[in-house]
Amino acid sequence: MGSSRKDRAIARRTFLGFAAAFTTAGVVGTITTDNAKARAAFDDALSAWTSAGEAMDASAASFSAAQSDAVTVAAEASRVLEVTDPEMIDDSATLDTLRASLDALVAAGLLTIVSPGEVTASPSEPEPRSTPAAPEGREAQLAQAQALSAQATRLADAAAGTERSVTELESAADTTRGRIEAVVAAAAAHGAAAEVPELATQETKDAYATALGALADPAAGSASDRISAYQSAWTAVEDSHAAAEAAQSRGGGSTDDDIQPTYVNGILIVNKTYRLPSWYGNGLTGDTLAAFERMRAEAASLGHNLWIASGFRSYSTQVSVYNSYASRDGSAAADRYSARPGHSEHQSGLAFDLNTITESFGYTPEGQWVAANAHRFGFIVRYPQGKEGVTGYIWEPWHLRYLGVDVATAVYNSGLSLEEYLGITSSYD
Ligand SMILES: [Zn+2]
Repeated sequence: MGSSRKDRAIARRTFLGFAAAFTTAGVVGTITTDNAKARAAFDDALSAWTSAGEAMDASAASFSAAQSDAVTVAAEASRVLEVTDPEMIDDSATLDTLRASLDALVAAGLLTIVSPGEVTASPSEPEPRSTPAAPEGREAQLAQAQALSAQATRLADAAAGTERSVTELESAADTTRGRIEAVVAAAAAHGAAAEVPELATQETKDAYATALGALADPAAGSASDRISAYQSAWTAVEDSHAAAEAAQSRGGGSTDDDIQPTYVNGILIVNKTYRLPSWYGNGLTGDTLAAFERMRAEAASLGHNLWIASGFRSYSTQVSVYNSYASRDGSAAADRYSARPGHSEHQSGLAFDLNTITESFGYTPEGQWVAANAHRFGFIVRYPQGKEGVTGYIWEPWHLRYLGVDVATAVYNSGLSLEEYLGITSSYD
C-alpha cells in the first residue's frame, strides 16, 4: 500500500502542478491580449507615421528640386537686372515686371538675394524621421502609439505645406524666366535699332555685331552673360566714337572749343545751366567708386541691398539716351527726367543711379536708408522731392552725386538742393 500512498502523493503534486499551470496560463493570457491591443495601436500609428513621413520626404525632395531651379532662375534674373541699363531697354515696364516677378520668387520660395547674381536658398528642413522599436510594456507601448500618431499628423501637414510651396516656386520661376526673355528681346530690339556711330572703329563695330547676334541666340550663353556682352560691346562702340570725336574736337573746328567744365566753390557743376564739353569723362572716378563700396558694405550689413544700375555715361551715350526719350515723350517731357547731351551729371563720373530707377525706390527700406545716410559717405540725393523748380528735375531718389563727406554733410544738413546751397541756377536758355 506504500506504493498507493506514494501514488496519491504523486497524483496530488501533479494536480497542484496542473492547477498552478492553469492559473498562470490564465493571467498570462489576459496580459497577452492587452499587449496585443497596444501593439496593434502602436503598429497602426507607426504605419501612419511611416507613410506620412514618406510623403514628406517625397515633397521635400521635390521642394528641393524646385527650389534649386528657382535659385538658378532668381540668380539669373538678379544678374540680368544688374547688367541691364534701363535706358537701353525701350520698354521699361518689362524691367519693372522682371523686378516684381523676382520679388515674387523671393517671397514664394524662401530665397534670399545676397547681392545681384548671388541668390541662396533658405530651405525649411524636413523633420528628421526614425522608426523606433516597440518599447516593452503595455503602458509604454500605448504612450508611444499616441506620440507616433500625433507625429504622423504633423508630418502630413508639413508635406501638404511643402507641396503648396513647390507649386508657388515653380509658377514664380516660370514667370521670371519669361520676363528674362522679354528683357533679352527688348535689348536685342534696341541693339537692332541702334545706329552705330560713324566714327566708331571697325574693330568695335565688328565686336558689337557679334554681341548683337549672340544676344538673340539662347545657345550663346546665359541671358545675363549675353546682355552683359552686348552692353560692353555697345559701350566700347560709344567710347571709340567719343574718342574719335574728342580727337576731332582737339583738331579744331568744334563748338566744344570754347566750353570748359564749371567749378563753383571747387565743386564741379553739371546741370541745365552748366554743361560739360563732349570729350569730358572717363568712367566713374576712383573716389566715387570707393565711397560707393563703403556705403554698399554698411548697407549690406544692415540687410539693405544696393547696386549701381547706371553709372558713367559718355556724351555720345547721352545723345542716344536723350534722343530716344525726346522722340518718345517729346523734348519738354524728356527734359524733366533726362539731360540733354553735355548736361548729364552721369558724364561727370561723380554720379550714378541706384537699384530701381523709379520713384518707388524712395519708399523702399533701401531708398529711405540712402536718403538718411548717403551724406556720411560723401553723397547727396541730387534731385530732392519738391525741388524741380530749382534743380530742373523731378524727384530722383535713385540718383546720387558724390561731393565728399564734408560738402555732402553740409548740403544734407542745410536741407537745400545743391543749386540753392551754392546759389546757382539750372535752366536751359
Ligand atoms: Zn541718374
